[in-house]
Amino acid sequence: MLLANLGVKFWLATRQIRAVSRHRSAVPQEFSETISLQTHQRAADYTAVKLRFGLLELALSAAVLLGWTLLGGLDWLNEVLLSAFGPGYPLLQPLALLAVFTLINGLIDLPMSWYQTFVIEERFGFNKMTQKLWLGDLLKSTVVGIAIGLPLAALVLWLMNATGSLWWLWTWVAWMGFSLLMMVVYPTLIAPIFNKFQPLQDESLKERVTQLMNRCGFASKGLFVMDGSRRSAHANAYFTGFGASKRVVFFDTLLSQLTPAEVEAVLAHELGHFKHKHILKRIVGMFAFSLAGLALLGWLSNQSWFFAGLGVMPNLPLQMGGTVSNHALALLLFALVVPVFTFFLSPLMAQLSRKHEFEADAYAAAQANAQDLSNALVKLYKDNASTLTPDPLYVRFYYSHPPASERIARMGAAIAPV
Ligand SMILES: [Zn+2]
Repeated sequence: MLLANLGVKFWLATRQIRAVSRHRSAVPQEFSETISLQTHQRAADYTAVKLRFGLLELALSAAVLLGWTLLGGLDWLNEVLLSAFGPGYPLLQPLALLAVFTLINGLIDLPMSWYQTFVIEERFGFNKMTQKLWLGDLLKSTVVGIAIGLPLAALVLWLMNATGSLWWLWTWVAWMGFSLLMMVVYPTLIAPIFNKFQPLQDESLKERVTQLMNRCGFASKGLFVMDGSRRSAHANAYFTGFGASKRVVFFDTLLSQLTPAEVEAVLAHELGHFKHKHILKRIVGMFAFSLAGLALLGWLSNQSWFFAGLGVMPNLPLQMGGTVSNHALALLLFALVVPVFTFFLSPLMAQLSRKHEFEADAYAAAQANAQDLSNALVKLYKDNASTLTPDPLYVRFYYSHPPASERIARMGAAIAPV
């Protein structure tokens, strides 16, 4: 299964690299008025460099997966922690196992993340981070991760121990409660640790946006501008929060690149996602998916072949006086192995997502202006150096957003010079 997974991913990436380089010498006809050859070639190079780096990451993550499972890494770590803690700590040993595992994986990812920011993004002029800011972010996210992750992991392990054979159902309830809580506290408490959020100052834009929101029957606590330019030149806008913490966030990079009419059109697209209940559908889908996953894990964690087949010797009932459970081991093995299988569902998820994007575009065309949205899309493609000539099969597997030309054609807008 892992080989099939790697094979498909490798094949798709090389298809995409070939598609992009095949079209590198000429701007697609429909964009010939809008995008210069130089911009087009920069996008092609950026796409190819990222894909090649992705292949390296793919190989590394496969090696790490094999290292943890069949080569015995997880088994070894478990044994080390068992003898370090002794028999008297039925919760601490599994908790330490989760923590050390996460720490090691984090350390392995670190050089890749550094290279991506300071070599790839830097080379194409996107990176705005200093080494100091990067280190500061790393420190902050580690502290936040420990402050949130450790109590959550302890709660899950405790539930697994205390609630008997239906632990997976209880864990699911706790996990969903936690997810909803995060949706409420993330925008107001966690995101401000990393970025500054200021109320939108531009009065005329505010007026425009407020009118649009009234027209669409949408109430929000506020419009904020985020200092995205501190880290990257990539532009974005998003909705966040839930209930009373709902807010609209514009990256300062977006406001500096788009006209007020284009910002309005982009926001109308985002409102379209709300009107069509895409966010709610996504949350419900995630809840159902987690429930199925946890039920499966509930069953697998009682099967000794599940552990042995993945290179781990389950803790025997008598070992360590019968106090150490296999729950942490089961959680980790499951988290390692499940993505190998769920990858094959990605074309379905991507297709659903692209359908939602078309719906949001149609909503934006009705509530704002299709031509403005089309202009904004072209600008964002240009500024983000996204390729205009993807491989169709790669799109089917990975693209959460339809290619620019399809979106613009579907809206019935023109690709006008911007
Ligand atoms: Zn969208």
